[in-house]
Amino acid sequence: MDTLLHSLLVHSPVITDGAWGTQLQRKGLTAGQCPDAWNLTHPSKVEDIARSYVDAGSRVILTNTFGANRITLSSHGIADQTHQINCAGAMLSCKAAGERAHVFGSIGPSGKLLMTEEVTGEELRDAFTEQAAALREGGVQGIVIETMTDLAEARIAVEAARGTGLPVIACMVFDSGPNHDRTMMGNTPEEAVRELTAAGAEVIGANCGQGIERYVPICSRLHKATPLPVWIKPNAGLPTLVEGRVTYPTTAAEFARHATALKDAGATFIGGCCGTGPEFIRALVQTLTTDIP
Ligand SMILES: [Zn+2]
Repeated sequence: MDTLLHSLLVHSPVITDGAWGTQLQRKGLTAGQCPDAWNLTHPSKVEDIARSYVDAGSRVILTNTFGANRITLSSHGIADQTHQINCAGAMLSCKAAGERAHVFGSIGPSGKLLMTEEVTGEELRDAFTEQAAALREGGVQGIVIETMTDLAEARIAVEAARGTGLPVIACMVFDSGPNHDRTMMGNTPEEAVRELTAAGAEVIGANCGQGIERYVPICSRLHKATPLPVWIKPNAGLPTLVEGRVTYPTTAAEFARHATALKDAGATFIGGCCGTGPEFIRALVQTLTTDIP
């Protein structure tokens, strides 16, 4: 195993961070605005979010670069800023982390479908290679491929990120099918383990899509299917529209109450996705860590 991952997992579970998108919205990001561009236009607000997670006790934080691949950025007309946006995102998180936390770079899906030939495998490979290299240049110590719905795209992203030489964590969304245990394309946790491991991922994970209770059995299946560490970041429940605003029902205390089951199911990296914030991380730290120096 990679030496950084190994040293982090001496004290397991490792508490990661919470959501970025919903935190940016709280700071004024509006619908349709490019969240990643804020690394250049609103750097202090992005850094504040990173610092809020470090202060809450996250041992690993991510970067505000979820959609900062050339393909997604081109839909905002700023593909030419791909490199700067990723570098800045990495540097803002590293500055906030200092010596207190590690920074892994976030890479999300392209938003285009391979299956319908909206994008080619080569275009994806180029875009993810460019993004991962810029994140590395900005100082990240690992890459997290997250919120992936298509295993084929996830595989390409993992392979591209491996080119940096950094450890790669690969996370799919499992929220589909009658049992809510498949990806949008119908793949099972076991299939995800097989494919992502073959692509070179060193940690297998699941994030977004649904709340923490339903991620317990998914975590258990991932853990049984692989000796690799398992990374889980559930949402704060399923979003609902209340008076025109998207709200997430699960409180930090409720989230943390289920976290022990997640740990017992084999999760070694635990954090939150959409709707979670620093208070969720603080609650996780209180519930899950007993022997962190
Ligand atoms: Zn999410």
